[in-house]
Amino acid sequence: MKILESVMNQVIKRNPNEPEFHQAVKEVLESIEPVAERNPQWLEAGIFDRIVEPERQVFFRVSWVDDCGKIQVNRGYRIQFNSAIGPYKGGIRLHPSVNASILKFLGFEQIFKNSLTGLPIGGGKGGSDFDPKGKSDGEVMRFCQSFMTELQRHIGENTDIPAGDIGTGAREIGYMYGQYKRLRNDFTGVLTGKGLTWGGSLVRTEATGYGLCYFMAEALKTKGKSFNGATVIVSGSGNVAIYATEKVHQLGGKVVALSDSEGYIYDPDGIKLETIKRIKEVDRKRISEYIKYHPNTKYTKNSSGIWTIKCDIALPCATQNELDENSAKTLVSNGCYAVGEGANMPSTPKAIDIFLKNKIIFGPAKAANAGGVATSALEMAQNSMRYSWTFEEVDSKLKDIMINIYKSASAAAIEYDHENNLVVGANIAGFLKVADAMYAQGVTS
Ligand code: NDP
Repeated sequence: MKILESVMNQVIKRNPNEPEFHQAVKEVLESIEPVAERNPQWLEAGIFDRIVEPERQVFFRVSWVDDCGKIQVNRGYRIQFNSAIGPYKGGIRLHPSVNASILKFLGFEQIFKNSLTGLPIGGGKGGSDFDPKGKSDGEVMRFCQSFMTELQRHIGENTDIPAGDIGTGAREIGYMYGQYKRLRNDFTGVLTGKGLTWGGSLVRTEATGYGLCYFMAEALKTKGKSFNGATVIVSGSGNVAIYATEKVHQLGGKVVALSDSEGYIYDPDGIKLETIKRIKEVDRKRISEYIKYHPNTKYTKNSSGIWTIKCDIALPCATQNELDENSAKTLVSNGCYAVGEGANMPSTPKAIDIFLKNKIIFGPAKAANAGGVATSALEMAQNSMRYSWTFEEVDSKLKDIMINIYKSASAAAIEYDHENNLVVGANIAGFLKVADAMYAQGVTS
């Protein structure tokens, strides 16, 4: 990095001890350096200095009462990163690891991802260090109500529209929406991922996983390959992983492994998705339960071991930095020819280098997993119209959006002399639209 090095240095100085945020910013700044060279007017207007600083950050106390009557205290966050092209939009993560660094990295990535969808949505992210795992429904409800009691001051259907993410599924969105409505006396599309009987969109549940496969199918097609007949590994076993697996199977591929944070299962005959849905979506249990239903399969403790299984295509769908340099080397030496990121930033920078050097078809998260937020924007559109599209209508719009994202990332990569590098292509294509809007709107913040 040359021109933008001072921007990076300022980010490190202003946000000490935030490695995930630094990692996400560095990747984008490195990619958009040639854009800075071609657009001195954006340098002069401070676009690069401004885009790395969130417009607004809210940190707040979330107190709630557990089932034993004890007071619990968590910290809530909302990072409103950029509203140049639309209201802030991004999920709410509930996980004990949540901190400012993780939410800033996610909020920053969200700016470019949302821009890539072609829909009018800005970037944001939020969450809490609350862990829904092992909590009763009553405890989760009391936490969500307390969380929304503060968050409702900062969001709105034209201001900031949160959605789900790790730990925030249909149950949590329901409790949060109920509390928003109670406090504001307003039935609006302020959250996405809502239930189908109260404003939700068909396909939203499946959207990130399905969208990932639509994106990768397009990328594979350009290299004369497809999911049909391919052996696939998917990490995680949450929302993204489950629906990526479902779509891979529909497209004729075979997913042979899934994981959670404790270990992975290997089923050489192909994962039985109905069993996974029962374990994860109904019983909320560990993935190790799978071998009780299918005794001829194997469970191994240590989730990162999943990358040692031989496969054609790998879809990391669990969490950030879950796939490191060694795992990338193992995948490549085992003959894997495509990697699509369902999770946000699941591959470390060194792992990405290995994929690119070995000419692996690599779908970076901000392009490949944009189907979730794109369908959230379609949910917003339906809420505004007071109308619902059919499953087929939403699914076909999602597919078109994912194909378009692939085409714009691929075209930007070619235009900036990085053919086949979708990391650079996605960062540039996402950035151009936001920079243009920020420039047009003047120095407003
Ligand atoms: P969920 O909470 O539904 O699932 C997360 C899954 O990942 C769980 O199975 C969890 O296991 C597992 N996991 C967590 N850490 C690890 C680890 N170190 N190794 C292996 N597995 C692990 O979340 P989502 O599926 O919604 O989100 C997954 C990823 O996709 C995140 O990066 C998220 O930001 C991203 N994403 C999600 C979107 C969405 O629409 N939901 C949209 C775009 C991106 P355990 O139960 O043990 O914790």
